[in-house]
Formats: sequence, structure tokens, C-alpha cells
Amino acid sequence: MRIDHRTVGPCEENCYLLTDEDSGHAVVIDPGDEGDRLVEMIRSSGATLAGVWLTHAHIDHIGAVAAVKREFDVPVHLHPLDLPYYTELSARAAVMYGIDFEQPDGPDRELADGQELQCGTLRFTVMHVPGHAPGLVAFTGHGVSFGGDLLFAGSIGRTDLPLGNPADMTASLARYAGALPDETVVHPGHGPSTTIGREKRSNPFLLGAARLVRR
Ligand SMILES: [Zn+2]
Ligand SMILES: [Zn+2]
Repeated sequence: MRIDHRTVGPCEENCYLLTDEDSGHAVVIDPGDEGDRLVEMIRSSGATLAGVWLTHAHIDHIGAVAAVKREFDVPVHLHPLDLPYYTELSARAAVMYGIDFEQPDGPDRELADGQELQCGTLRFTVMHVPGHAPGLVAFTGHGVSFGGDLLFAGSIGRTDLPLGNPADMTASLARYAGALPDETVVHPGHGPSTTIGREKRSNPFLLGAARLVRR
């Protein structure tokens, strides 16, 4: 297994390329911006792209989906509860903030909690962990987890965006941190990678030192 990444766009979003070196298949997770750079990352890996997996559909995570689809024509996977972002709200945000945004087709496949996804011989499990976004999912397997904007090194994803939900976020963090072994490496949507154990020991939102309040 190999994991490459690029940090893209004004939100400094992390896009990951997960490659199964045994089969030569890869999936790209959250192609958020700078389509040309991401296409180049995928091409230079030498792997055959098999799909796009989305943790959620905020604009900073889907801004290069159209560019990737045009180049590789692979199915886009998304939890249906994030469809409002995918089909409408991200495009609206682009207009509001004056960001270039190409509306992608699809999505093509629905993700669900507990579902198993394959990348060549690799197996990843989908965990639905809403709060930051209603359809946010984490992809976990082989000692690593791609958690999108659920858990960051020292922080968590915001819950004050449209369709965000602090109570769901609190429950999702507890479930996620409780289910994954401490040594699991978390590759988040923003900022550096971390481990579940490190966050359990030091992240104020997991220690209960900082609380999310419902407005
Ligand atoms: Zn987000
Ligand atoms: Zn984000």
C-alpha cells in the first residue's frame, strides 16, 4: 500500500492517492482543487485509477472531481446525505466566494455505514460520522483512516457551516475514537497526519476540555 498526497487550493485541503501496489489500482480521496496537479499525481504514480472516494462534498473537497472524471472517467462515491452539497451548495458557495468551480457529474455510487470498499486487494470500511457535514464518512483499513474533516491534529472540523450539527459531531468523535485502535494513523482533510492515540491524549475536543455547544 502506498499513500501519496497533495495539499491543494486556498483551503489547503489534503487530497490523497491510495495505491494498492500488488494490483496497480488506486483511488483518489477528496480531489479538492488544482485538477492539473492531481491528474499529474495520479499519472506519475503509474497506477490505474479505479475510483474517487469522497469523505464529504464541501467545495474544498470536490473542486477537482470534474477534472479527474474528465481524465479518468471513474465512479465517484459519496454518502447520499451530502448530495445537497454536491449538487447545489458547493456551486453556490463558489459564487458567493468568487471561486472558480466546475460542477461535476454524478455521484455514481452511494456510500453507507459499514460498507466495505475495495482498492485492488485493499479493503476499507466506511464509517458514517456526521456533524461537520451530514454525509461525512471515514475510510478505514490497513492501520490508516482517511477521516476528512472529522478529526484534525489538535482540533476538529467546524460545525457552524450549513447542515453542520454539533450534537452529531460529538457522537461521531466518540464513536470514531472509540472504534479505532490507538496506533491508527489518521490522514485528515486539513493539516498534518496524526494517530488516534495521540489525539486521545492531547486533543482538547476528545479530552472533554473543549465542548461543542448547540447554538
Ligand atoms: Zn468540510
Ligand atoms: Zn475541508
